[in-house]
Amino acid sequence: MINVSELTKSYGPVQALRGVSFHIGEGEIVGLLGPNGAGKTTIIKILTGYLQPDGGTAEVHGMDVLEHTREVQAQIGYLPETAPLYPELTVQAYLKMMADLRQIPEEAQLDRLSEAIYATGLQEHLTRPIGQLSKGFRQRVGLAQAILHKPKLLILDEPTVGLDPTQIVEIRNLIRRLAKTSTILFSTHILSEVEALCDRAIILMNGRIKADARLSELAATSDAVLVLERTPEGALETLRGLKEVRGVELFRSLDGYPAYRVLGDPQLSDGNLTPRLYALARQHDWPVRELRRDVRTLEMVFNQLATEEVTAEN
Ligand code: ATP
Repeated sequence: MINVSELTKSYGPVQALRGVSFHIGEGEIVGLLGPNGAGKTTIIKILTGYLQPDGGTAEVHGMDVLEHTREVQAQIGYLPETAPLYPELTVQAYLKMMADLRQIPEEAQLDRLSEAIYATGLQEHLTRPIGQLSKGFRQRVGLAQAILHKPKLLILDEPTVGLDPTQIVEIRNLIRRLAKTSTILFSTHILSEVEALCDRAIILMNGRIKADARLSELAATSDAVLVLERTPEGALETLRGLKEVRGVELFRSLDGYPAYRVLGDPQLSDGNLTPRLYALARQHDWPVRELRRDVRTLEMVFNQLATEEVTAEN
């Protein structure tokens, strides 16, 4: 659905993209995540044909965006960071105008408009001028225009920015519904948004992709946590002696029991230490209270990448 290869873009001395490549398949819902200034909007503008890259290629539906800009734009539903709405127009007048601009045939317009209006829950607000709507409803109008022509691909630039918590939940639910029939790429700097909506995240920092993986892969570690009823003599040394282990941290579990965070060596272990630890605990007759794989939150992954980025820059 989307193929991006080695994209570069500078604005004067600012290198916004430094060789960005990724592929998005049909039916995926992917979060493009990054701090302010990471280059998210630049990627989206290139993909939607509103900005020319300095180098690299962007393809949508197998078509080069630069060569087939109009055809690509006709197949994408795009919600820019600030949707170009006309505050004096009513919702229905605006959507009708967008349907004309999209060259949706007159006989199909009623169906297309009703579907977009119901999908975005705008039916009660059709006769209100857009300028009088709350920000959340204006965002719905932006989404309604993006789906009018039933695009198979939706590209949304920070769709919930500036909304209150209730509006955020509503827009997320709407995106979830739209994901049933479309591939979706959306940008955000909100980690929980990606966790709430996506299977996969592309993390962008300083114009480079720092991670591109399914959330479950990002969360997985080769570490494990072993909680015991009491501290057996020599347990720490025994754990440290395992060849798959690069370190052991001793701490107290929340309910006050001795706990060991066993850091797996990604080079040696198969990624899951728990069977090995279970066997070891049985062998030594340790009173096991809990044994689990350690997982990371997206926030931990993001912070680690941000720290690496700062260290690399200095
Ligand atoms: P945000 O989350 O703040 O919207 P972003 O990840 O979308 O950020 P971009 O808007 O793509 O980031 O910007 C990437 C870099 O390029 C930033 O350093 C930004 O200041 C710079 N930049 C973007 N547009 C322009 C422009 N028109 N002229 C000069 N610099 C620009």
